[in-house]
Amino acid sequence: MNRLSGKVAVVTGGALGIGRSICLLMAREGAAVAVTDVDENEGRKVVESIRADGAIAEFWRLDVSVEADVKRVFHDVEQKFGPVTVLVNNAGIGGANKPTHELTLAEWEHVQAVNVKGVFLCTKYVIPQMRRAAGGSIVHMSSIYGMVGAPDVPPYHASKGAVTLMAKTDALIYAPDRIRVNSVHPGFIWTPMVENHLSSAPDPVAARAIVAALHPLGHMGEPDDIGWACVYLASDESKFVTGSELVVDGGYTCR
Ligand code: NAP
Repeated sequence: MNRLSGKVAVVTGGALGIGRSICLLMAREGAAVAVTDVDENEGRKVVESIRADGAIAEFWRLDVSVEADVKRVFHDVEQKFGPVTVLVNNAGIGGANKPTHELTLAEWEHVQAVNVKGVFLCTKYVIPQMRRAAGGSIVHMSSIYGMVGAPDVPPYHASKGAVTLMAKTDALIYAPDRIRVNSVHPGFIWTPMVENHLSSAPDPVAARAIVAALHPLGHMGEPDDIGWACVYLASDESKFVTGSELVVDGGYTCR
């Protein structure tokens, strides 16, 4: 309890899956949480659930790929809670699952708009607030697919590789401001994203077992496995950690 008390956290894509877990755990640990997402219904449910536990949260509709929205929401969050000191760039999409030569430019650009441009925009607009607060912690949600290859979703791999290096560069640029920037690399986590991805397989039940077996621990992860990693990186327990890749993958990338 209270690992994040006094902190103001913005979580993008906070309505479902991993983002929802991050919001719930950060609020439980004492942060004031701005739950942001394009899914208003589910986002408001997360806020209700946090408030029912006596913790602090507010919902903002935010499409991370739209600069005007990002600018307005970060301004409004600061008005409500004070300068943001924790940002989790969690919003992301899987995108088209085709080999590179079959992808359209629009399919490629759509994934980069959410997964890369969105991370850039939210980071851009949070930095002045973190400077005003004399420090902060930013987490980019990358993936095992930002570390190693697999023969699927090429635009997604590119996007997750990009945010991994964006974290390291900004870790160096903003270290003098006491702003830390790290990336988190989940293995397969059972969320609506993965459920949708596997539902297109000829035999979704068999596909789920095959994917589970790719993890030496023998199963997929749960959203809270990633939520706790983000709590650690947001907290002062990780005050000497910046530019790092926190891998939470059941051993997937050990091979
Ligand atoms: P998810 O279940 O699809 O949830 C993502 C949330 O982000 C949804 O509420 C989604 O809304 C929202 N979103 C989509 N586009 C957005 C946008 N432009 N602006 C703001 N919000 C947007 O995904 P997840 O599995 O929890 O994944 C969360 C993050 O972890 C992603 O960055 C993903 O790449 C990463 N990750 C996931 C896994 C995994 O196995 N699940 C593994 C490695 C990394 P809609 O549902 O309305 O689109």
